[in-house]
Amino acid sequence: MIVAVDGPGGTGKTSVSRALARLLGLPHLDTGAFYRAATVAVLAAGADPAEPVGSLRAVTGSRIQSVAGAILLDGRDVTEEIRSEAVERNVSAVSAHPEVRALLVSAQRDWVDEHGGSAVVEGRDIGSMVFPDAEVKVYLTARPEVRARRRALESGVDDSETAEALTRRDHLDSTRAASPLIVPPGAVVIDTSDMSIDQVIETVAGLVTTRS
Ligand code: C5P
Repeated sequence: MIVAVDGPGGTGKTSVSRALARLLGLPHLDTGAFYRAATVAVLAAGADPAEPVGSLRAVTGSRIQSVAGAILLDGRDVTEEIRSEAVERNVSAVSAHPEVRALLVSAQRDWVDEHGGSAVVEGRDIGSMVFPDAEVKVYLTARPEVRARRRALESGVDDSETAEALTRRDHLDSTRAASPLIVPPGAVVIDTSDMSIDQVIETVAGLVTTRS
């Protein structure tokens, strides 16, 4: 059973996916963390995130692992570092390179295999590319001001700055040629703007029950 949770930032993907995984007794994979760790590797190598060859070289030369909720880069815990402003600013550029995506998609599929083949997987291209045959696909969305407020609360940065960063990432993620952010075929769209996290979890859990 694969539950694919896609959508832009600030829509509740991570909170919902984590809680849902706990509820269903499934492992949870945050694929955004892989792209963020790859960005740490690119920046550490001094490569230009917008340039594919140097970015790919940096990512190929590093090992990214997701272990018990922590993200490791060459064995080093980078769970906090992947939330830095520098990563926030550059992650969409690194994620736009198809060769980088191919490596990370393969690592994500391997992770699910190694964890028994069932998982709640969140990201931008899960239902469209990583697991197109997922049994349950949801696409979470929310009004821009709601997303900015949620992100600002998480990061402690003010609303307008967060709104700007989110808009920039949304634009890059949804206009890139390789696996752009889209509503995957067969996904149920849930607007979480006026819902509590518990209501969203309940809605997705209901879909899992009817489809399994
Ligand atoms: O979900 P999160 O905000 O951590 O994702 C960070 C970035 O990683 C996204 O803005 C996107 O550029 C990239 N990403 C992606 N495909 C995924 C997950 C994340 O391109 N499956």
